[in-house]
Amino acid sequence: MGYRTLEIYLVGGAVRDKLLGIEPRDRDWVVVGTTPEEMTELGYQAVGKDFPVFLHPETKEEYALARTERKTAPGYHGFAFHASPDVTLEEDLVRRDLTINAMALDEAGNIIDPFNGQEDLENGMLRHVSNAFVEDPVRVLRIARYAARFSRWGFRVAHGTHALMKRMVENGEVDALVAERVWQEMERALGEDAPQRFFEVLRNCGALGRILPELEALFGVPQPAHHHPEIDSGLHTLMVLEQAARLTPDTRIRFAALLHDLGKGTTPEVEWPKHIAHEARGVPLVEGLCERLRVPKEYRELAVIVTRDHLLFHTAAELRPVTILKLLERIDAFRRPERLEQFLLACEADSRGRTGYEERELEQPRILRGAYHAAMAIDVREVVAAGFSGKAVGEELHRLRSAAISQIVKNREP
Ligand code: ATP
Ligand code: MG
Repeated sequence: MGYRTLEIYLVGGAVRDKLLGIEPRDRDWVVVGTTPEEMTELGYQAVGKDFPVFLHPETKEEYALARTERKTAPGYHGFAFHASPDVTLEEDLVRRDLTINAMALDEAGNIIDPFNGQEDLENGMLRHVSNAFVEDPVRVLRIARYAARFSRWGFRVAHGTHALMKRMVENGEVDALVAERVWQEMERALGEDAPQRFFEVLRNCGALGRILPELEALFGVPQPAHHHPEIDSGLHTLMVLEQAARLTPDTRIRFAALLHDLGKGTTPEVEWPKHIAHEARGVPLVEGLCERLRVPKEYRELAVIVTRDHLLFHTAAELRPVTILKLLERIDAFRRPERLEQFLLACEADSRGRTGYEERELEQPRILRGAYHAAMAIDVREVVAAGFSGKAVGEELHRLRSAAISQIVKNREP
């Protein structure tokens, strides 16, 4: 029967990113008109488990045989794939999530764009390729992540795509997402330019309430207008995340900033707009969320610290020296100096994430850093040399550090 000649195309994100003028994270290729046997003969290394994917002998980039897919069961594992030499490029492109991800570039440099991806790229539109979009709930997360990544160009969800996303929430397809995948997409989204857009897009289609109900619960909960001109706790939370993204690329800090006020979602309504003890109430919520999504320990620990102690940051100027010392000890700042900086940045984002407070001068980081350095200057070896031993070493160290912090607090006062 004779195969057509083998054709190789660059596809997906790499084509999109080339057109956007940004560096692609990786390059994916599609091969049309060939068989796994021929690929192996050409020196490619087979790696695909569910469908034929190969690594290039030199570049090690991924080359997938053109394939079609068909939904067979709920959830995103429920697909049957079909790859053969007669599957066309266009058939491969139609199974992709978004029009901007469904373009190909041939070896001569021509763009193959059957679904008007270039136009959508131009207009900043995140638009589904076909109604098969609804078959895979990961796509809801991916769209939200692209909104976060391409925020600088104002990318938004096309109306028809938004309707499909809402339907996927309503028919329960979104509930089939597994924890690992949610966290994987969320962690990547936290690293993007505008991570708050990820959560906004999920909220708009109703998915936030299914995936992160603790966050959804913050919307519609008022805070005192004096400290929080933006009033709404959910709005404040997204503003805090936006500020965290301005302050640091560290996704652990951004994550802690996002979760720090979860306790406000469980304040009894009669107490609104006050949120007494929301810090303590937030801790089990943060722990529960992290448990459910199997969030790595580094993220969880910082989020718990910031949730529990952010009020102490804001009131730093009024704290007793011993309270500051205990805070530093709880943060584990003496063994892990980077923890203090992470804590300070997340709390700074909290302070700036309020309407009108974005550019204010903050005194708290200076106070707490000053206290930390004063306490650090007390060397445990001096305490031992002075004849203390056993439990008394820690007690004496604590006393001396507290006194050192008192000194700088006193010096600060006029
Ligand atoms: P990134 O820059 O994040 O890698 P990408 O667009 O290259 O973005 P990949 O996850 O590398 O994304 O996937 C490569 C391509 O495969 C996508 O551009 C898209 O065409 C297709 N794709 C990936 N995941 C899905 C999915 N869940 N549903 C449909 N198509 C998908
Ligand atoms: Mg890619």
